[in-house]
Amino acid sequence: MAVSEKQQKLLRMIPGVDRILEIMGNERDLDTVPKNILTRCVRKVTEQIRQEIFSSEAKVSEKQLIIDRISDKVRFQIQKSMAPRLVPLINATGVVVHTNLGRSLLPSDALENLLKINSRYSNLEFDIEKGKRGSRYAVVEDILCEISGADSALVVNNNAGAVLICLDTLAGGMEVIVSRGELVEIGGSFRIPDVMAKSGAILKEVGTTNRTHPRDYENALSEKTALLLKVHTSNYHIIGFTSEVKLGELVGIGASHGLPVMEDLGSGTFIDFSRFGLAKEPTVQESVATGADIVTFSGDKLLGGPQAGIIVGKTATIEKIKKNPLNRALRIDKMTLAALESTLRLYRRPENAVELIPTLNMILMPVARIEEKVSRLFNILENLKIPELSVHRMDLISRAGGGSLPMLKIPSRGIGVNVKTMTVNAVERFMRNHTPPIIGRIEDDLFIMDLRTVQVDELAMIEWAFKTMLNKE
Ligand SMILES: *Cc1c(COP(=O)(O)O)cnc(C)c1O
Repeated sequence: MAVSEKQQKLLRMIPGVDRILEIMGNERDLDTVPKNILTRCVRKVTEQIRQEIFSSEAKVSEKQLIIDRISDKVRFQIQKSMAPRLVPLINATGVVVHTNLGRSLLPSDALENLLKINSRYSNLEFDIEKGKRGSRYAVVEDILCEISGADSALVVNNNAGAVLICLDTLAGGMEVIVSRGELVEIGGSFRIPDVMAKSGAILKEVGTTNRTHPRDYENALSEKTALLLKVHTSNYHIIGFTSEVKLGELVGIGASHGLPVMEDLGSGTFIDFSRFGLAKEPTVQESVATGADIVTFSGDKLLGGPQAGIIVGKTATIEKIKKNPLNRALRIDKMTLAALESTLRLYRRPENAVELIPTLNMILMPVARIEEKVSRLFNILENLKIPELSVHRMDLISRAGGGSLPMLKIPSRGIGVNVKTMTVNAVERFMRNHTPPIIGRIEDDLFIMDLRTVQVDELAMIEWAFKTMLNKE
């Protein structure tokens, strides 16, 4: 690429890294900034300027190369480098279990327990009564058995890990029969065939995408078969000319051939959503009662707790899984255990769970409650009296998310805004880069916020963002 004379001149005018460091190194307020960060930021800024000069000479003026201007840029860069990377944000997407935004918010009991257990020593692996080494799972095993009806339970790092360790234990080197309609892919590269391959189990697909019959399983049985697997198609639905083999039928086939049956429930819930007028999602208790030997599910999807993989089932099978060396690699940590125990205890009284577990509370939140938030935000934004801002109340559709209840469209309410002096993309970008970031969506030239997933105390933060964006603070 030819470099013009003007570009060459500009390039020569960029102060050297050492020169900038020398000047900025004496600035008092930068005393606490580690030298390597300062150097890295200076390099980054000068490199950025160089790139800008190359890409369009018109954009960079001689003025911008004055050391004061550069030092402002470096300071901005330092601020960015020193700030925490994992930050809270406002989820105005209406997707309750949003995997990219952290899935479930913990119930306050779980948060308190997290702090309590992790700021002291605990009996994590210590049996207080016997005075000797105990099991890490003991603290959640009883409650899991109590609320699921299972004989035994085990928890690992996440449900992908749960599926992996179960397949490895029960079917390593052997065949696992799965319906072609259930070869699920979950976002973030969890695919049943791939996890199967990693576990050393051999996938034996049966049936077709839309129809699988009991005889398909029967015909695939051989001396190599170790397990019958059912995967809940948590994030999609096959409709039309379909037929699936119910868990009960699979349990029947397993029993008559002496084979264990496992179900990967994905989301896993203890609450029957159909009781609240929503679509039916199979519950953990039902799968256990139907006779599955092993049921696995996530801790942070519809359960509404911390990230975890929960395995419940028959004692003999669970005991084998507990002895698998992978169990050590997939071990759950004490922060998770503390939060999980508190969350699970809330399920002793389902009415408590629905009220106190944010994930359930938000999914089941009546439109009237959302409308209250909409009215408040509508009034807040109208009261800013900014002529270029137009605010609309809107009917919206929320989603459960997290690959659960895929067909469920939950009627919701929200606010759509339009700013005459800005493109809707610029509004979305501003909100996303604000502190805290506000994540909404664009539809029909409006920036839309679904208030189902917005907390009441976040409304003032949204107000502040609009004031800042439109210079009214
Ligand atoms: C979400 C999901 C998984 C993976 O669970 P993680 O807790 O995210 O590891 C596995 N199987 C199914 C069916 C799922 O829906």
